[in-house]
Amino acid sequence: MSEPSAGSRTIDTPNERNERPCLPLDPPPAPPGGWGVAELHCHTTASDGVVTPEQLVEIADRLAIDVLAVTDHDTIEGALRARDHAVSIGARVEVIVGMEVTTRRQDHIVGLFLDRTVRIFRSVPDTVDEIHAQGGLAVVAHPFLGLPSSISPDRLRDALRRCRFDAIEAENPYMREGARGRLTAFLQDQGEGVGAKVGASDAHFGDLAKAVTLFEGRGAADLRCAVEKRATVPAIGRVRHPRPGLRAHLQNQYRSLLRLPVMRAGKVWRQWRDT
Ligand SMILES: [Zn+2]
Ligand SMILES: [Zn+2]
Repeated sequence: MSEPSAGSRTIDTPNERNERPCLPLDPPPAPPGGWGVAELHCHTTASDGVVTPEQLVEIADRLAIDVLAVTDHDTIEGALRARDHAVSIGARVEVIVGMEVTTRRQDHIVGLFLDRTVRIFRSVPDTVDEIHAQGGLAVVAHPFLGLPSSISPDRLRDALRRCRFDAIEAENPYMREGARGRLTAFLQDQGEGVGAKVGASDAHFGDLAKAVTLFEGRGAADLRCAVEKRATVPAIGRVRHPRPGLRAHLQNQYRSLLRLPVMRAGKVWRQWRDT
């Protein structure tokens, strides 16, 4: 058999970065540095997720996700465990320590690049300020869904009088026409203060990369740079996960409805004691 020419070798060699399952089916033209893929919102057994931080890192690695922000409700413990695990197994995915903070009126704000736990049940602007004070980025989580944990256009407008966000989740698996319409109108009206548009899965079952954030480069520093330049691209991922079974749903509900409130009560008590 004759040696393939250099040209055909190039064609036959799969382009690892373009064949990753976490990339969307039809990604926009890649920038010179190529697209990095980030998953910026997911939960572990440290809050109401059903996979451990260690399992989550391994799933992210299998999906060839570049940057994984672990954002448990009201704790950074899961994220710290995930980061340690990624380092110890030499994972290619880089873990960002994050937290989905519950605010006074239940709106959810995601903090990324955190060193410390953020206080809960405070106003949205106070929460954002506390995230910024420790060098973190503040992201509006799943906006305008009409659910108690999802900020409304009025409340976001109100918060923007006192603070600025670094990003907003413009793509997530819950996004339906109503929420999308409200978001588009809001961004046209006052997109300035809400920063970059990102995509995130809010995964509770290890079902990562349903929605992703594309950015130029590969690591967490590149992602941060893209967020600050507002150069991120939200996208629907192409991974199709099996539907979680009844047991997984029950675990999620148990953690969400029983364990989280107890955890939050303890946290509020410690916040009160320490002030
Ligand atoms: Zn949750
Ligand atoms: Zn949430």
